[in-house]
Amino acid sequence: MNILLVEDELSLARAVKRILEQQGYLVDAVHDGLSAVDYATGFDYDLIILDVMLPKLDGFEVVRILRKDNVNTPVLMLTARTTVRDKVNGLNRGADDYMTKPFDTEELLARVGALTRRTGGTVVVDTVSFGDLTLDVKSACLSCGGNDVQLSKKEFEVLKLFFYNPTMTITKEMMINKVWGAESDVSDNNVEVYISFLRKKLRYLKSKVSLKNIQKLGYRLEVEA
Ligand code: CA
Repeated sequence: MNILLVEDELSLARAVKRILEQQGYLVDAVHDGLSAVDYATGFDYDLIILDVMLPKLDGFEVVRILRKDNVNTPVLMLTARTTVRDKVNGLNRGADDYMTKPFDTEELLARVGALTRRTGGTVVVDTVSFGDLTLDVKSACLSCGGNDVQLSKKEFEVLKLFFYNPTMTITKEMMINKVWGAESDVSDNNVEVYISFLRKKLRYLKSKVSLKNIQKLGYRLEVEA
């Protein structure tokens, strides 16, 4: 279950991310409205938790743009505002639920649970497959045929990006943002190192799947015919 969390108060974002991850959700956190639109249109999420007061674009605008782009992921608005007018505003623009800050953990989890169930997500998926590969998202174990190999945390996060977006070319910038965070000082070289680690493991597994270079753009998963 993938959740996009959009919250510009970094300490709150970290706390909410931790709470959700403890429940087994996979969480990407971004901190402004433009990044929210980029991530929500570029990747598949089961739920978007969206603050209203955000830099660059506010939460209402984000929802409006997403709905216009036919991104129908459920949206839980999170805000310090408590007026009825804001609530009506948010729901009119396509938000699915609304929660005012401060909120408690139980309430957050109850609402997240209700909204992710609505998309048919009661079954928590433990594995994701591509070609002859199966990735266990709980243990970070990658298997092919009868063989398996343990991935490191970063290798797992990089590969997961490809598995969840199997038709997409993933750029180095996306990988850095999603795996290390936009504020990190990780360079393209680090990404290349992890791609080479993963390629080594794919060869070890004798998989027909490869991480193909897409010239100047990034990488994409491909299955050898
Ligand atoms: Ca805010």
